[in-house]
Amino acid sequence: MNYIKLINGPIEENSFIVWDDKSHEGAIIDPGFTELDVYDKYILENNIKIKYIINTHGHWDHIKNNKLVKNAYGAKLLIHEDDNEYLSNAQLNLSYYYDKEVENTTADLLLKDKDEILLGNEVLKVMHTPGHTMGSIILYNDNLAFTGDTLFFGSVGRCDLPNSDKEIMIQTIEKFKYLLPKDSLVLPGHGKIESKFSEQLEINPFLTGKMKPK
Ligand SMILES: [Zn+2]
Ligand SMILES: [Zn+2]
Repeated sequence: MNYIKLINGPIEENSFIVWDDKSHEGAIIDPGFTELDVYDKYILENNIKIKYIINTHGHWDHIKNNKLVKNAYGAKLLIHEDDNEYLSNAQLNLSYYYDKEVENTTADLLLKDKDEILLGNEVLKVMHTPGHTMGSIILYNDNLAFTGDTLFFGSVGRCDLPNSDKEIMIQTIEKFKYLLPKDSLVLPGHGKIESKFSEQLEINPFLTGKMKPK
């Protein structure tokens, strides 16, 4: 699967365009503040047909341009069922506290653990990873892992926000430690460094057990 990372917005959120080489079917992950002309450029260049917009979770910095992108490409919006309410609740998606306007959107399909999102011959698997939010997910295949705000380079997502839960995050860490393919490239929702999951298992203090989620 191919991907392009687009760093955007006031707190440098990572949005991704992913697509299958053969069918050119693709998806946009977490359209935060990335503008349409930026997406257009890469989508035209690579002849991509955007089928889905997928939110790794419902925070404002990851969902801000959902509506813009959905209208432009006629794509279906996907989010885990436990974060669905974030799409229309400014206090839950935190836009209220950051004084940012986020237009309400409605999901076309609600995701659950183990769902599979097909892009041509490629499959993005959904792993439910609650903690940072209750509907956080990691999307992965053999090569790539889009970890949202669940797993960062050397860290994990904060759990001191409304609706976060650090005890559940501890269970989530144990889950993805064993389920994520070791060879997959970790592509978090923030941060520039890309690393193999095998490296995170060695150096990330939250995965080695030296630190607990806060
Ligand atoms: Zn978040
Ligand atoms: Zn974020």
